[in-house]
Amino acid sequence: MTIAIIGAGLSGTLTAIHLLQNAASGTTVYLIEPDRYRMNRGVAYSSQLPFQPLNVPASAMSLFADEPLDFFNWLEAHAQLYKRQISLPVQITDFIPRTIFGDYLKARLQEAEAGAAKGVSLVRVYEEALSVARQGRHFTIDCSNQCTLSANKVVLAMGNFPPALLPIPNKSFYKSQRYVASPWSAKGLSGLQTHESLLLIGSSLTMVDLVGSLQAQGHKGKVYVVSRHGLLPQPFDVSTRPYPKTAIPEGAYQSALSLFRFVRQEIKQAEAAGYPWRSVLDALRDDIPVLWQSLPEKEKKAFLRHIRPYWEVHRHRMPASSAALLQELQEKGQLEVIAAAVLDMRETESGARVSIRRRHYQETEEIEVGRVINCTGPQCDYTQVEAPLVRQLLADGLTQPDVLRLGIKTTPGGKLIDASGKPVSGMFTLGPPRKGMLYESTALREIRQQAKALAHRLLRQGKATLEVAKTS
Ligand SMILES: Cc1cc2nc3c(=O)[nH]c(=O)nc-3n(C[C@H](O)[C@H](O)[C@H](O)COP(=O)(O)OP(=O)(O)OC[C@H]3O[C@@H](n4cnc5c(N)ncnc54)[C@H](O)[C@@H]3O)c2cc1C
Repeated sequence: MTIAIIGAGLSGTLTAIHLLQNAASGTTVYLIEPDRYRMNRGVAYSSQLPFQPLNVPASAMSLFADEPLDFFNWLEAHAQLYKRQISLPVQITDFIPRTIFGDYLKARLQEAEAGAAKGVSLVRVYEEALSVARQGRHFTIDCSNQCTLSANKVVLAMGNFPPALLPIPNKSFYKSQRYVASPWSAKGLSGLQTHESLLLIGSSLTMVDLVGSLQAQGHKGKVYVVSRHGLLPQPFDVSTRPYPKTAIPEGAYQSALSLFRFVRQEIKQAEAAGYPWRSVLDALRDDIPVLWQSLPEKEKKAFLRHIRPYWEVHRHRMPASSAALLQELQEKGQLEVIAAAVLDMRETESGARVSIRRRHYQETEEIEVGRVINCTGPQCDYTQVEAPLVRQLLADGLTQPDVLRLGIKTTPGGKLIDASGKPVSGMFTLGPPRKGMLYESTALREIRQQAKALAHRLLRQGKATLEVAKTS
């Protein structure tokens, strides 16, 4: 059996690890990734920016749910290699640089490859997959450089696409040197003058990383942060103690408001018993996919419109040291966070002029900066993604976007749903593309469960197909 995994970030690589650990002789796994440095790191763990900490402590970054300290133990064993990047001795509460997590992921794949059963092989393909076509029981994958692969099963692990363009009238600004489309690349900050001013659009964790990176490279200029609500991620508290799981009442599943009320009520009770709000959100985390799937579509939309900004800043928290840095910069006046909508942007002789309208105000204002960086988060609307493979899959009806435009439609097990609404036999996805179906589907905690379950499913199906072929 041959399984082609398209994309070798965390989702693709971890699926490959489980396949290699469990496959029987005669299994080939193709891991397809065009970018050499992203191979087994993906977007999140390959960044060359100077300040890129994981957004959860070392204790929560194991690749394996049943070995919760695997990352920490690996890190301790290799700590000397990283003594310039981390403080020693390493603690489970430390926020480790993301590239080190990338090294861990790569190392665990190499071990799985070395320990795989005889006749099981991993082939790394350094190409971009451009199209997937179904031919009877097989799939043909056309890649860049005229390479064509054939596989029985396909896993789409394409992860995070660069942020969406804002709908401004002056679209020509997007071709300007003053505009940085992808906030995760070190190119975004290269050549920056020490006193050059910047506008970061979006106030989530990516913005926090960029502000940290700017400080690390000695930037002294003004940094404006504009987002619709102007909310910053809440700080992490590593001393948060676990809150016992509560049964979620039936009523909470009915509407976004009832869900919101339930969470608030639970937090009130928890606080009375000495638990902080963070403990309640952490305890609810594993229930989110079930809650989300139970909410009626209209209520999911209401959640996205009214509750999401507040939910996100509490759920995706920043290290306390980053919170302290942001506060210090705000107090010095070097960082200004503005709740506003960006109306338009244009290039000027010396930089960029950005029109904004502050939240709850009618007047427009203009900000002059040297550079604008889009930190609004990965593009999730597949109809707007320009990648050739996504366009082809949509055009050929092998996939369809989910109704909320947060990813693509899948079955509960991650099988793609085609344009006519039928599951596509043999084609699966995991991680960020499943956000519309599960809501919580982009972080390691969810991806590690999905990757393990998917690998076992692929191998079970492969075995069944082999047995049918033998008896017929
Ligand atoms: C900047 C950033 C930081 C994050 N930090 C954390 C964190 O600290 N902790 C946490 O739990 N989560 C974090 N996340 C969440 C993150 O989504 C997941 O942890 C995880 O990295 C997602 O992995 P992925 O493989 O699905 O996607 P990606 O990392 O996006 O990898 C997808 C890969 O697919 C490749 N690809 C795409 N299209 C094709 C194609 N057509 N052919 C071949 N290859 C293709 C891409 O080049 C890429 O390497 C972070 C996310 C981002 C964006």
